[in-house]
Amino acid sequence: MNHPETEFEYLRKKMVETHLLGRDIRDKKVLDAFRKVPRHKFVDPAMSGDAYNDFPLSIGDGQTISQPYMVALMVQLLDIVKKDTVLEIGTGSGFQTAILAELANSVFSIERIEVLTKRAKKVLEESGYSNINIKTDDGTLGWKEFAPFDKIVVTAGSPDVPNPLLEQLSIGGRIVIPVGSRFMQRLMLLEKREEGRVSEKDVCGCVFVPLIGDHGWKT
Ligand code: SAM
Repeated sequence: MNHPETEFEYLRKKMVETHLLGRDIRDKKVLDAFRKVPRHKFVDPAMSGDAYNDFPLSIGDGQTISQPYMVALMVQLLDIVKKDTVLEIGTGSGFQTAILAELANSVFSIERIEVLTKRAKKVLEESGYSNINIKTDDGTLGWKEFAPFDKIVVTAGSPDVPNPLLEQLSIGGRIVIPVGSRFMQRLMLLEKREEGRVSEKDVCGCVFVPLIGDHGWKT
């Protein structure tokens, strides 16, 4: 079924009102980014009719584009300001990358599955973003060359917080990461107070695909 752009615009507005404002997303910058970024362009055209519902969708290779509310919550917790350099682990469809790029100075994003990196790069370029760098690699190692990062977001579930990410975080910087078992995690917010001193807050339960890598799950 073909949906005209005006219908997508209407559905996007409704999604923000119902699933974000209707819950606890209050950061105006985050809400404005969600009003702007066309989520339907980041999913398979056959699923675009579901793009503004509040659930994850398959993006192939066993991976998912996360539920809009969860993306909004993670981004709100990061408290991004315009000068920030952000590292994202798990590009997936590139949708969250676009939301981050609306808010930050620059975004570095790592995806371990090449075909997803290529697809996300294409849609983000076509959307006109010039402040995003993406590569295919093991994101649990971080991206040393461009560190330190003001904010880091991990979009897959990890058994623990990967050490290289803590090392590559600025003083005063924040990490949002799902930590737990392969099938269920807690969304954690960490803040680096000073070198070697990190505060932790348990935000809520969540379910993400596994973070696979040297400092994540091994397979
Ligand atoms: N937020 C994304 C979006 O908007 O589409 C969805 C991300 S999806 C839930 C998690 C992604 O993390 C998957 O694409 C998966 O391949 C990726 N991933 C898992 N382990 C990784 C690793 N070590 N490094 C980089 N990406 C990884």
